[in-house]
Amino acid sequence: MKRACYPGSFDPPTYGHLDIITRASSVFDELIIAIMKNPNKRNAFTEEERVRMLQEITRDLPNVKVVVGHGLTVEFAKSIGAQVLIRGIRAVMDYEFELQQATANMFLDETIETVFFVARPRYSFLSSSVSKEIALNNGDLTKFIPEAIINEVEEELNPQKKDRQRIPVGKKPTEKG
Ligand code: ADP
Repeated sequence: MKRACYPGSFDPPTYGHLDIITRASSVFDELIIAIMKNPNKRNAFTEEERVRMLQEITRDLPNVKVVVGHGLTVEFAKSIGAQVLIRGIRAVMDYEFELQQATANMFLDETIETVFFVARPRYSFLSSSVSKEIALNNGDLTKFIPEAIINEVEEELNPQKKDRQRIPVGKKPTEKG
C-alpha cells in the first residue's frame, strides 16, 4: 500500500494542481493532499475554503483525500503514513526551489522520497498567483481554474463580483439552496 502526500498552498487550486493530483492518484494507492499551514505566507483563501475547493474538484477520485498539514512537511507526511512526497515542476525556476526543498527533506528523513511530476505543457504557465492576478483584474479564469470552483474564486477575488451574493461551491448560479 503506497500512500503519497501532495503538500502545497493551493491558494487557489488550479488546473495545473488538478493535473498533478489526477496523475499521482493513478500511480499511488492513496493520495493525501496536504494544505500546509505557513505563517509566513498571506493566503487569499482560508484553509477551510481551500479544503472545500480541493474536495470539490477531486470528488471523482476516490483514492484522494484532503487535509490541513502543519510543521515540517516530512514529519507531517510520516504522521499520516505517507512514504512519498509529490511535487510538480513547471520550469527551471521551480526546479531550483524544488531541488533545495527535496534535498533538505532528504537530510531530515531519508525514508521519505520526493517524486516529481513534470507539468503538462498546456499547464506549465499556470500558477495560483497568476490566477489571482487575473481574477483581481476581472479576467477570464476558465483556462486556469477548474469549473466547479470558478465562482468561489471570482466571488472572493474579483472586485466586481465580490459584493454579489456568494454561490456555494458546486452549485450553478441557477440552482436554488
Ligand atoms: P507551494 O507554496 O508549496 O509552492 P503551490 O500550491 O504553489 O504550493 O504548489 C504546490 C506544488 O504544485 C509545487 O510543487 C508546484 O511546483 C506544483 N505546481 C503548481 N502549479 C503547477 C502546474 N501548473 N503544473 C505542475 N505543477 C504545479
